[in-house]
Amino acid sequence: TNATSSNFIKTIVSEDLKKGVVDKVITRFPPEPNGYLHIGHAKSICLNFELADEYGGRTNLRFDDTNPLKEDTEYVESIKEDVRWLGFDWDELHYASNYFDELYERAQLLIRKGKAYVCDLSPDEIRASRGTLTEPGQESPYRNRSVEENADLFERMKNGEFPNGSKVLRAKIDMASPNLNMRDPVLYRISHAEHHNTGDRWCIYPMYDFAHPLSDAIEGVTHSLCTLEFEDHRPLYDWVVEQCEMPSRPRQYEFARLNMTNTVMSKRKLKRFVDEGIVDGWDDPRMPTISGLRRKGYTPEAIRAFAREIGVARSNSLVDDRMLDHFIREDLKLKAPRTMAVLQPLKVVITNYPEGQVEWLEAEVNPEVPEMGVRQIPFSREIYIEQDDFMEDPPKKYFRLFPGNEVRLKHAYFIKCEEVIKDADGQVVELRCTYDPETKSGTGFAGRKVKGTLHWVEASHAVPASFRLFEPLLAEETEEQPDAEETGDDFLKQLNPNSLQVLQGFVEPNMKSARAQDKFQFFRHGYFNVDPKMTADEQLVFNRIVSLKSSFDP
Ligand code: ATP
Ligand code: MG
Ligand code: MG
Repeated sequence: TNATSSNFIKTIVSEDLKKGVVDKVITRFPPEPNGYLHIGHAKSICLNFELADEYGGRTNLRFDDTNPLKEDTEYVESIKEDVRWLGFDWDELHYASNYFDELYERAQLLIRKGKAYVCDLSPDEIRASRGTLTEPGQESPYRNRSVEENADLFERMKNGEFPNGSKVLRAKIDMASPNLNMRDPVLYRISHAEHHNTGDRWCIYPMYDFAHPLSDAIEGVTHSLCTLEFEDHRPLYDWVVEQCEMPSRPRQYEFARLNMTNTVMSKRKLKRFVDEGIVDGWDDPRMPTISGLRRKGYTPEAIRAFAREIGVARSNSLVDDRMLDHFIREDLKLKAPRTMAVLQPLKVVITNYPEGQVEWLEAEVNPEVPEMGVRQIPFSREIYIEQDDFMEDPPKKYFRLFPGNEVRLKHAYFIKCEEVIKDADGQVVELRCTYDPETKSGTGFAGRKVKGTLHWVEASHAVPASFRLFEPLLAEETEEQPDAEETGDDFLKQLNPNSLQVLQGFVEPNMKSARAQDKFQFFRHGYFNVDPKMTADEQLVFNRIVSLKSSFDP
């Protein structure tokens, strides 16, 4: 499906172009550099870039950096990297903080027009006097200061004469408006704080509701797309653009944010996981960040296909996290070489196979893509199979190995379990099997059938590797509220103790040449990615991206 063909924003854009409301489309992706991007941001990135692209327009990357306390250049760099990795090229790169001079002048203009005033109420007093949905707010005692006094006080705020929280600049709109956002919203606050871009040049900072519409207008953005929580802010957005006499007229449109099952998605919560050491960084493969998904092994193609499939709507909904898995399976099916890995090894000695002999078997790299060629797999008297593939006392319909049973080794021979070796504790440590040379794979042997096919790795050439298997970070299914900033820290009590399992096993010898971010399909286990952080010369570390079986098809 091509979801962009059926999205309401596209309808608006094509109408605007047809009617001549705009002559080109300019969008922007406006992250606040206060954390790493997550899969929700990917939805917004794909929407903004693909929309402009479809109409021959342009997309800017703009850092919405108006809150000095939370922002950092580390985040700026990671955001640029992630947008590029997803496959998008921004037209212009901007920082809202580069507009601080112009924003300050526009605020002065509002003061001169009698549309803004300096208010000495504390943040708590402002909140308390704002009223409710059923009761109008109360006018500030400072609301009727003269233009001259406001201009003077605002300049002195800028010059650093007042402490944090002692004064703000407010728009003078309507304390009885049914829309709470229109009840004299704060436009500027005092914050004596070092800013990642402007250093200590400023000690007053514009609020989002003032900075965002003006930044859009300065850049000539035509369609400013944001998530639904901002729907109530739209009248204020329009008021700011109009009252500040901006020459261009951006319009805000809202779409539903992405919420996914089993996925925590606010930067604030994700930052807690990092700060508390619950994960090994923003790029931990369990994180829904773009960098975490990349390290786990997701591809840009899969993420973009996912974003297209979920589409853009105006009602909030919860997307099944298995949908993302579907797209990575689809993408890797024809790309990933297939190979065998034993994650929890059990040694098997094939007693009738000549000692010291090694034969090399041939197998296709990907049976669905013959052009990917063939690989050589060693076979000898000692191999590893999966501990799970043997049971001493199996239930009915168990077709893997058990005493007296015969199975097929993928690409090799039938083997039959003759003897079970245990240690002093009664743990099975080795199996003794026999093989039948007649049954060699590829010879067309049809003498008898077996029901189980096992993967395996030859012992003397096996390359040790670790395998990291993942589950969601939180044990209980969580449905996130859009207003995630308001929720408490209870989520840390629901940590899933099994979110990471590390196994030590073996892979085929040709895997020695595997490099960071290479992806493979391990027979019966699923798709794996070579971890870029933990893999060293002598130690291969694989992250499981997704298992093979899909319980879900959109
Ligand atoms: P968070 O709540 O996770 O901190 P945010 O909205 O504060 O996210 P911003 O950096 O302000 O993050 O977001 C940049 C852009 O990405 C905004 O346009 C925002 O609406 C959009 N965005 C953020 N989260 C989602 C989401 N879950 N689904 C879709 N778009 C999102
Ligand atoms: Mg935001
Ligand atoms: Mg935020």
